[in-house]
Amino acid sequence: MKKIGIIGGGAMGSGIAQVFAQKGHSVALYDTNQEALYRSKQNLAKTFEKLVAKEKYTEDQAQEIQQNIEYVSDLAAFAEVDLMIEAIVENLEIKQAVFKQVEEIVSDTCILASNTSSLSIASIASACTKPERVIGIHFFNPAPLMALVEIIPAVQTQEGLAEEIKTLIQSVGKLPVITKDTPGFIVNRVARPFYGEAIRILEEGVADTETIDFAMTSLGGFRMGPFELMDFIGHDVNYRVTESVFEAFFYDPRFKPSFSQKRLFEAGYYGRKSGRGFYNYA
Ligand code: NAD
Repeated sequence: MKKIGIIGGGAMGSGIAQVFAQKGHSVALYDTNQEALYRSKQNLAKTFEKLVAKEKYTEDQAQEIQQNIEYVSDLAAFAEVDLMIEAIVENLEIKQAVFKQVEEIVSDTCILASNTSSLSIASIASACTKPERVIGIHFFNPAPLMALVEIIPAVQTQEGLAEEIKTLIQSVGKLPVITKDTPGFIVNRVARPFYGEAIRILEEGVADTETIDFAMTSLGGFRMGPFELMDFIGHDVNYRVTESVFEAFFYDPRFKPSFSQKRLFEAGYYGRKSGRGFYNYA
């Protein structure tokens, strides 16, 4: 697979584009929002300025990698791609509409992947005329730094495709695991009680955010405490994933979302990216 098409130039799409571009793939990065594409390009330039200063890359290599990414505002550029990875908003109807649209443009052999954190790959694939070529490829944030990638074949996915993707993901320096198409896959499912129980501890007044984060980082061995981590991920993303996993497990109370986080989400207090979440960053 030489040419990769990525839909969504936000946090994940931009990071995934960088991962493939660094390994010499040519990447087309598409977004409906021109401003998002501009920001993505600017951020990548800043990243490579730092990497060159740290002597991780030469100036020429940095230029070459950045030139591997083409920022496009017309999906027609996807006619030539071998693999499409979708990284847009976490909403099933919108993702299904995009998969339908992209299927009309790409070649018959193009593989279609979603970076969804919590939606069913089977339901995304069901929107396609060739659902057997659809698969989940779940990178973690920030994609250039996080080694793990979950690969999720749906019930419709053709035999052997997960292995093929696994080889590709290894070739770009990542550590892939294959998992079944169940809500939250492995990591986001195990992580739900980590966040949920921390918020319950806060709500019950057992300890405050700083104390819980301190306990988990200094004694629990985690790099970030649950509140720091939720603020880093963003409550828009993290809350929606919790809600989606809860619904998908037929409202199992183990995965019940909290009002404290819902209110932050509703207020637009998304965490670091908006300047305020559980903590204040202003
Ligand atoms: P984001 O909000 O940073 O970026 C989404 C981008 O998609 C935006 O630039 C937006 O303009 C664009 N977009 C929205 N609708 C579009 C459409 N119809 N066509 C083209 N572009 C469109 O979101 P993100 O954090 O990068 O998340 C993207 C996906 O990756 C989601 O499915 C999310 O669940 C998943 N994910 C997120 C994380 C994370 O920690 N942020 C980690 C793993 C997976």
